Amino acid sequence: MCPRCGGDLDRGRYVERSVREENDVAMVTVQADICRRCGETFLYPGMVDLLSRTRDLLRAGEAAPAVGRVFDLRDEVA
Ligand SMILES: [Zn+2]
Repeated sequence: MCPRCGGDLDRGRYVERSVREENDVAMVTVQADICRRCGETFLYPGMVDLLSRTRDLLRAGEAAPAVGRVFDLRDEVA
């Protein structure tokens, strides 16, 4: 049950998160329960640590760039 609204939780879902460090962005998959009513995401234990380790890798310049391009279209579609 969602601690915020009392709704049912969709348990153990895998969701994509992006971690940004200045101009670099890393995509990571995290596991979470997601509320079917309010949409709140409750990350599993260890996921916050995973996100912070990802940020450390970006900061250290040790992450290998993915194949493909990232488009920043925020100005175009605003
Ligand atoms: Zn909720």
